Amino acid sequence: MYLASDNQLEDDVAIHFEQHLEKCPHCAGRFQAVVHVLTLVRKRCRRVPAPQGLIVRIRQHIRIVEEGKS
Ligand SMILES: [Zn+2]
Repeated sequence: MYLASDNQLEDDVAIHFEQHLEKCPHCAGRFQAVVHVLTLVRKRCRRVPAPQGLIVRIRQHIRIVEEGKS
């Protein structure tokens, strides 16, 4: 997992991310677009922080989806 390997997410959160991205094409598409850009940028610069805005948005969506189901 790209973000987890950067230690920017705790393990349990990363697992939630992966599970959610598998189920949610909306977040998966967003996430993969960002990962694609980060991968390109990282070929030139070593350290590129993961966009916190995206992480926050997906976290919120995970919460909404999980609350909606339970
Ligand atoms: Zn989602």
